[in-house]
Amino acid sequence: MYRSHNCGELRASLINTEVTLAGWVQKTRDKGFMIWVDLRDRYGLTQLIFDEERSSKELMNKAKTLGREFVIQVKGSVIERTSKNTNIPTGDIEILVSELTILNEAKTPPFTIEDKTDGGEELRMQYRYLDIRRNPVKNNLIFRHKVTQEVRNYLSNKDFIEVETPYLIKSTPEGARDFVVPSRMNEGQFYALPQSPQTFKQLLMVGGMDKYFQIVKCFRDEDLRADRQPEFTQIDCEMAFVEQEDILNVFEGLTRHLLKAINGVVVDKFPRMTFDEAIKKYGNDKPDIRFGMEFGELNGVTQHKDFNVFNQAELVVGIAVPNGNTYSRKDIDKLIDWVRRPQVGALGMVYCRCNDDETFKSSVDKFYNQEDLAKWAEITGAKAGDLICILSGDTSKVRVQLSALRMELAERLGLRKPNEFAPLWVTDFPLLEWDEDTKRYHAMHHPFTSPKPGQIHLLDTNPGDVKANAYDLVLNGNEIGGGSIRIHDKATQALMFDHLGFTKEDAKAQFGFLMDAFQYGAPPHGGLAFGLDRLVALLGGQETIRDFIAFPKNNSGRDVMIDAPAPIDEEQLEELSLKLNICEKENI
Ligand code: ASP
Repeated sequence: MYRSHNCGELRASLINTEVTLAGWVQKTRDKGFMIWVDLRDRYGLTQLIFDEERSSKELMNKAKTLGREFVIQVKGSVIERTSKNTNIPTGDIEILVSELTILNEAKTPPFTIEDKTDGGEELRMQYRYLDIRRNPVKNNLIFRHKVTQEVRNYLSNKDFIEVETPYLIKSTPEGARDFVVPSRMNEGQFYALPQSPQTFKQLLMVGGMDKYFQIVKCFRDEDLRADRQPEFTQIDCEMAFVEQEDILNVFEGLTRHLLKAINGVVVDKFPRMTFDEAIKKYGNDKPDIRFGMEFGELNGVTQHKDFNVFNQAELVVGIAVPNGNTYSRKDIDKLIDWVRRPQVGALGMVYCRCNDDETFKSSVDKFYNQEDLAKWAEITGAKAGDLICILSGDTSKVRVQLSALRMELAERLGLRKPNEFAPLWVTDFPLLEWDEDTKRYHAMHHPFTSPKPGQIHLLDTNPGDVKANAYDLVLNGNEIGGGSIRIHDKATQALMFDHLGFTKEDAKAQFGFLMDAFQYGAPPHGGLAFGLDRLVALLGGQETIRDFIAFPKNNSGRDVMIDAPAPIDEEQLEELSLKLNICEKENI
């Protein structure tokens, strides 16, 4: 038996008990005649004591050889500590060691295994197994486990069945590139790793499973943006015989349950907003509604004077920054520089101070009088003491720019409180989205999403106007889930593929299996998927998903610990019929 207790559970009630513990040496304090060792495992820390009076010389000498992160086993008795440590649950006791076994020695770790470590990100990732010994990482993994456990319990109690779907499949379009796996046994052929189990969960509905979920890895080969992982986890769900309302209710229930069970936060019915409304009010389809600063469109009250910048703009739009009138001229200039950065891309910013005496002072006083400015304040909801920030230009660009400014200011003003939770459903997404690069319409969600009833005819005339039965769940300005009611008949699915530019042959080759299945009694169905990594991070009051993944990839998609991706040897290449192709390509 390696241990009778763990390092977090001994209390004063067990004084005089003989125990065996095992764990890692967190630190040692050697006073010569007395040696203390902090012994650590996943459950906590327990103090060990060796002293000249009560321990043998041999034991004392052995204790002196202990280094940081040595793995040891000790036998001893629980005794009362003379100076108690109220910071840890085991702080009332210590172990007077009678036997010490060194199970494994350790090299000095490359960074300190403390809550606040001296190790930089890269180093910690390289030695992630050591990083995991640290409380912040360890606790995040335990936290993640708790969340997934709650998800499994909640959905299982609602009759959902967890079904595994394959990883070696054919492409499932979710808007990214596929990771592919060459097939040794089928020369020149490749599997794709799933971007999501979308088609399989739909087939499970055709198979009569009725309610499905899976906590599942998905793989998307995207150009990496900050805090994205090429492999990530979804809580993937699907239900048969449902309408949008049913789905929203079930998964609002799940989210509410998680907020309650994990964070102790009770949230009322989630507000809902259409995609169009979100874009108009917040310039963003995943608005953070923990704070106001809603957009006020000012075309009607700005385009009647000689200010050409506004007159020529498709949209003039502003936000009221609470207490922004305290900003100095220099602060405002810095803000203007901020919106002009290439990442934001605004040409400039007009501002208007709302003074305490109800007068206004704007950067365009030459063109606008007090009466005009009062209207700006009314429309943006600005109060005395606020600052109105106004951008103008092409509607879609300006909205994105003002949204970036809104989020930045909210961050600076401390309005994005991690312990406040504001979920929101965004509904009625457009079915299609115009892609400038390919000069074609793409499915905004994915090609299996059904258009809103009665809108199919618009596909021929105004494809961009067709709305979908698609919805996103937004939490604190992050999309945490999204889904749709699916097409479940062959004719509509074929029509969709046609509008997305697939030839009949391509559609059949790629998705013939799904359209075939639709001919054998496919029930109406729909579902959604949550991004588990982000959900866990947000519930944990943080925004970095990497901190909640045991072995994440870095920003270039590399695992620096195992050093992947890596070349494979000639023989393997040959077996996979890949070598030939490379030689052919390079004309060798
Ligand atoms: N498969 C979708 C996704 O990964 C979710 C869904 O439509 O259920 O975003």
